[in-house]
Amino acid sequence: MGACREGYRLYGKAWKFGWHHIFKNIKSRGVKKFNWKLAFEDNFMFLVCLMFGHQSYVPDEYDPDEIACKRCHRWL
Ligand SMILES: [Zn+2]
Repeated sequence: MGACREGYRLYGKAWKFGWHHIFKNIKSRGVKKFNWKLAFEDNFMFLVCLMFGHQSYVPDEYDPDEIACKRCHRWL
């Protein structure tokens, strides 16, 4: 799943959790405060990465073996 937060991916293996997280967060924060940008990135930025490649970075400096993508938030 995504780095350091709940994932919003609505397809693939964890799609059920994606829907669950979105509904839960909209319910508790409201539609306006929901982070639509993150939800958008989780679901659509993967397409950009497919075309241009992932933007890898190390989210946790104490665990340099874990590499994730800045754009689509996937572990690489
Ligand atoms: Zn990516």
